[in-house]
Amino acid sequence: MNIVVCVKYVPDAQADRTFEDADHTTDRVGVDGRLSELDEYAVEEALKIVEAGGGEGDQVTVLTVGPESAAEAVKKSLQMGAHAGVHVSDDAIAGSDAAATSLVLAKAIEKLGTETKVDLVLTGMASTDGTMSVVPAMLAERLGLPQVTYASEVTVSGDSVTIRRDGDASTQTITSSLPAVVSVTDQINEPRYPSFKGIMAAKKKPVQAWGIGDLGIDAGDVGLAAAWTTVESVTARPPREAGQVVTDEGEGGAKLAEFLVSRKFV
Ligand SMILES: Cc1cc2nc3c(=O)[nH]c(=O)nc-3n(C[C@H](O)[C@H](O)[C@H](O)COP(=O)(O)OP(=O)(O)OC[C@H]3O[C@@H](n4cnc5c(N)ncnc54)[C@H](O)[C@@H]3O)c2cc1C
Repeated sequence: MNIVVCVKYVPDAQADRTFEDADHTTDRVGVDGRLSELDEYAVEEALKIVEAGGGEGDQVTVLTVGPESAAEAVKKSLQMGAHAGVHVSDDAIAGSDAAATSLVLAKAIEKLGTETKVDLVLTGMASTDGTMSVVPAMLAERLGLPQVTYASEVTVSGDSVTIRRDGDASTQTITSSLPAVVSVTDQINEPRYPSFKGIMAAKKKPVQAWGIGDLGIDAGDVGLAAAWTTVESVTARPPREAGQVVTDEGEGGAKLAEFLVSRKFV
């Protein structure tokens, strides 16, 4: 089984995030970045599927589209256990929207498929920066593959994949033929930490570096100028107002009740 996992390099969600003044794209220069937390679940699931299958030649390839620093997302995935990596980077890609991002990912997966047939594409359910949650669907459409989203369990059997999809009121079990694009949630597993052995082994794993020329993509089809949508303004959330402190001097309960009634909470 040959699995491709799409992993995104994003600004660390724990740190302050800012936007470029000129075009409102995420400021990615000079900020701490990391492999999107939600994509770690996709990497872990791919590793589990390959480990359970035990087939010779089975492998997990991680694919990222992003600036030079995005190589870190590939590196972390290789340290976790992925077998190979692909990093697509090109100045022309900067500022791409979800549509252009999915184009680059699709072309890279097609190119990988000419080397070895791709059986399954796994993605996170959303990136932790853009949070568009649409790249997997766009990718499936471009590749002409079935897509199932928000999997909290994935079982591969023969030439099909079955997922569990948990909703608020019901749980669905969906089966799709392979190859397919599957996005996974953070309920699916517990991503492993890279071991020392994994960190050392990652240094020797193959990583291919491609630009848009290698993928037959025209510069006019990617980047900010080609985006179908534009973020017109970005405003920082106002700081939280200080809360009201109720000092209990024997009538704390009554004061709390008064407060809740005044706000129409009860
Ligand atoms: C301030 C700001 C301005 C923006 N401006 C525009 C704009 O003008 N026009 C516009 O259309 N969009 C704009 N975007 C959206 C931005 O381009 C998106 O981040 C990008 O298009 C992909 O969407 P996403 O990362 O939210 O993907 P999602 O759909 O949330 O990602 C889902 C999954 O797809 C995979 N994936 C996504 N991206 C990659 C990648 N690069 N490499 C590998 N795997 C990936 C991962 O597995 C991920 O978990 C803007 C975003 C921000 C925050």
